[in-house]
Amino acid sequence: MIEIQNRGDCSGCAACAAACPRQAIEMNADQEGFLYPVINSAKCIDCGICDNMCQAKNMIKRKREPLAYACWNKNDSVRMCSSSGGVFYVLAEFIIAHGGVVFGAAFDEELMVRHVAVDSMDQVYRLQGSKYVQSIIGRTYIEAKKLLDEGRYVLFTGTPCQIDGLLHYLCHDYELLYTQDIICHGVPSPIVWKRYLNYQEQQYKKPLVREPLPSFRRKEEGWKRYSISLSFDKDIEYRKYHKEDCYMQAFLKNLSLRPSCYECHSKTKIRNSDITLADFWGIEHMLPEMFDNKGTSLVLTNSEKGKHLFELLKSRLHWREVDFEEAVSHNTPAFQSVARPKKREAFYDRLGTMPFDRLVKRAILPPIYKRIYWKIRHVVGLILRKGKMIKS
Ligand SMILES: Cc1cc2nc3c(=O)[nH]c(=O)nc-3n(C[C@H](O)[C@H](O)[C@H](O)COP(=O)(O)OP(=O)(O)OC[C@H]3O[C@@H](n4cnc5c(N)ncnc54)[C@H](O)[C@@H]3O)c2cc1C
Repeated sequence: MIEIQNRGDCSGCAACAAACPRQAIEMNADQEGFLYPVINSAKCIDCGICDNMCQAKNMIKRKREPLAYACWNKNDSVRMCSSSGGVFYVLAEFIIAHGGVVFGAAFDEELMVRHVAVDSMDQVYRLQGSKYVQSIIGRTYIEAKKLLDEGRYVLFTGTPCQIDGLLHYLCHDYELLYTQDIICHGVPSPIVWKRYLNYQEQQYKKPLVREPLPSFRRKEEGWKRYSISLSFDKDIEYRKYHKEDCYMQAFLKNLSLRPSCYECHSKTKIRNSDITLADFWGIEHMLPEMFDNKGTSLVLTNSEKGKHLFELLKSRLHWREVDFEEAVSHNTPAFQSVARPKKREAFYDRLGTMPFDRLVKRAILPPIYKRIYWKIRHVVGLILRKGKMIKS
C-alpha cells in the first residue's frame, strides 16, 4: 500500500489512483492545494499495484542520446498563440489527421487547469500555451489506455512526471502512442492560482471571463519580454510584463512550486518521452539566424519514434539541428531541480491571510536589515564620491 513519508517524493502524477483495481485511492488536496493519494483502507486489498506504479520507487529509463533542434512553426499566427515556437501544434495536427486523440492541459469552466482530450483541430487551441499551474490529470491515463486498446493514435503531452506516470500506468509501450513532455521549471499549486485570480477580481471589482482565455505568454512585446494577461467583464484586460506580475514572480522565484519540484525524479537529460519541447533560451547567442523574438522552440527527440515523427513533420517547421549539450546548457531546468527558497513555507502559511501582491513582495524582498544596510551603503558611497569631486 502506497505510503508517502516525504511529500517531496510524490509528484501527484496519479498513476497509483488510476491503476488501483478497487478504486481505493483518491487524489485529495493538502493544505497547500497539491493533490496526493489518499487510501480508503476499507476498500484496499493490499495488492501492491499502487507501489509498482510509483515513479519515486520504480524508475523507467530509456538510454538514448537525444537529437536537438531549434525550430519554429512556419505558420506565424499559430506561433504567436504558442509559448515558444508552436511545435506542439504540429504534433497535434499529425495525430488528429490520423484519427487520433491529443491529451494536454486546458482551462476548465472555473479557469482551473486540468488535462483533457481533444480530437478535432478546432479544439487544439485549448491546449496551446503554457499554463503555469499543476494540471489535474483526473482519469486521462485511463481514457488514453482505452483509446490505445481500441487502436487509435494518442499523443499524450504534459510535464515529465506526468509522462512518467502514464508510462508506469500503461506498463508496456504502444505503437500508436506518442508522448511529448516539456522542460519544466516546476508547477505551482492550483490554490495559489485561485488566490491570485480572486485577488485580481478584487482589484478590478469585476468578474473574470473565459473569453479570451488567460495567457501566461503574450508575445506582443516579443517572446523574451512576454506578459501575462487576464480578461474581465466588459472587455477589460489586465496585462503585465512577467517580471512585474506577482503570480509570475512567485513562480519564477520558486516560491509556489510543489515540494517534489525541488527534488524532481523526472528531470534528467535523457527523457522517457518521445519528444521534449522547451523554449530555446540562449538561441540569439548560439544561432542568431534562428532568433527573431517571436519564439524559438528547443526540440529534443528522445526515442526512435520521436525521431521518426520529427522527420515526418520537419517540412512544416523552420529548423536547424544543434548540439544537444550546448542547447541544454542555456536551460538548467532541463536537468536540475530548482532550489527551495527559505521563505517558501512562510509563503504558503500566509496564503489567504493578506493581499496576494503583498504576500509575494514580502517573500521575495530581502530582509529589512539588509535593505537598510544597502541603503546606507549607497548613501555613504554617494557622499564620498561627491566629496572627492569637490576636492578635485
Ligand atoms: C509548468 C511549465 C513549466 C515550464 N518550464 C519551462 C522551463 O523551465 N524551460 C523551458 O525552456 N520551457 C519550459 N516550459 C515549456 C515551454 O513554456 C513551452 O510549453 C514549450 O516550449 C512548448 O511550446 P510550444 O510553443 O511548442 O507549444 P505551446 O502551445 O506553447 O504548449 C502547449 C503544450 O504545453 C502543455 N502544457 C501547458 N500547460 C501545461 C501544464 N500546466 N502542465 C502540463 N503541460 C502543460 C500542453 O499540454 C501542450 O502540450 C514550461 C511549461 C510549463 C507548462
